[in-house]
Amino acid sequence: MAIHGPADRLKGMKESVWVEFIQLALDYKPVNLGQGFPDFAAPEHVAKALSDATTGPNVLLNQYTRGFGHPRLVNALSKLYSQLVGRSINPQKEILVTSGAYEALYCTILGLVNPGDEVIIIEPFFDCYEPMTKMAGGVPVYIPLRPIKTDGPVSSKDWILDPAELASKFNRKTKLIIVNTPHNPLGKIFTKDELQMIADLCQKHNVIAVMDEVYEWLVFKGNEHIRMATLPGMWERTITIGSAGKTFSVTGWKIGWAYGPQHLIHALQLLHQNCVYTCPTPLQEACAVGFETEIARLGKPDSYWKELADMLERKRDRIVKFLSEVNMAPTIPEGGYFLIADFSQLGNKVNLDQEEGTKDYKFVKWLSKTKKLQGIPPSAFYCDQDKHLAENLIRFCFIKEDSTLEQAENIINDLKKSLNV
Ligand code: PMP
Ligand code: GLN
Repeated sequence: MAIHGPADRLKGMKESVWVEFIQLALDYKPVNLGQGFPDFAAPEHVAKALSDATTGPNVLLNQYTRGFGHPRLVNALSKLYSQLVGRSINPQKEILVTSGAYEALYCTILGLVNPGDEVIIIEPFFDCYEPMTKMAGGVPVYIPLRPIKTDGPVSSKDWILDPAELASKFNRKTKLIIVNTPHNPLGKIFTKDELQMIADLCQKHNVIAVMDEVYEWLVFKGNEHIRMATLPGMWERTITIGSAGKTFSVTGWKIGWAYGPQHLIHALQLLHQNCVYTCPTPLQEACAVGFETEIARLGKPDSYWKELADMLERKRDRIVKFLSEVNMAPTIPEGGYFLIADFSQLGNKVNLDQEEGTKDYKFVKWLSKTKKLQGIPPSAFYCDQDKHLAENLIRFCFIKEDSTLEQAENIINDLKKSLNV
């Protein structure tokens, strides 16, 4: 008798880019600008709130809490986002706390997509959108952001959607469009006009906008993060997703959330109730304390989010400068903590035959193993037919100590000398 194997919903599914490249970093111990996480401490008030939650007098903070979100946290989220979205958000019915933004995406997609429904995914995309859509029986429909030609350096602003192409992706079967702003990996911040174009199509075709806004606070000068949920007529058809990992520089805490109208959030709550059920209480308590502190500091100079964005902007300028000097043309990000760079001028001078995969996979592995600098191959963020669009690109994460960026800069400079570029 044949022994049973995996369920059909996993057919064709491969291990994600993270499995391979996190292992590579463990094996070769490169300077790690790969997976996105800070290599510095969390803000003191948030870290202290976690230790207080586990050792303080309220011993129940070490026990289960409310399944759809710890009361103190959903209240804080409601207070913050009610202010930002300009409407009163019900903490019980219009918010769900999840195990990272990842689980919020999972509950959204599995909670809203029926077999045969189409989901519009903008390339490059955070990789899990695609398998989650397929697991729900949905059909991913892809549309790439494409860089328009410019004379000077390329900005993430220059990566745009073609309006006619976008409109052509919507039809009767379209259920969701997933939009990530600020964007991983480009750093693009969608403008009001771009969001309005998407919103108009959502309203015309009765589509739900899934807004992955995990980098909402990481916005560089001259740019503004606009929430889709604030556009006229969009609250009722928008789910917005956030992450404590990005908000408080604690990616290992894996606390995220989704907010939106009750009729949609209820579906996510049911999904969550039947998989994770409830997220860790002390972590939620600490996030709540973090929000309470930061709500009071919003727009003030001591706001952690302001400090973090200012610090990241300096790091962005630094990495852009040293990559540009070796002709690894970076796209200058407007926000977030990643950038992509074009390595074709260097890549053509090295022998990548030893490595497997698409050209960007080969280059990233070669760089990690032989030069001890790790990035991520962006073709992981494209569907099979479009992977060629990323064949000369590498993603770097720059939410790193200056000393880490200095090591990366030294490696890049040595590479420049050795390859004579
Ligand atoms: N969306 C995007 C665009 C991301 O970059 C990430 C990476 N962390 C996530 C969602 C998942 O966030 P979390 O770590 O909170 O699960
Ligand atoms: N969002 C992070 C990145 O893009 C982490 C990814 C992950 O852990 N799956 O690097």
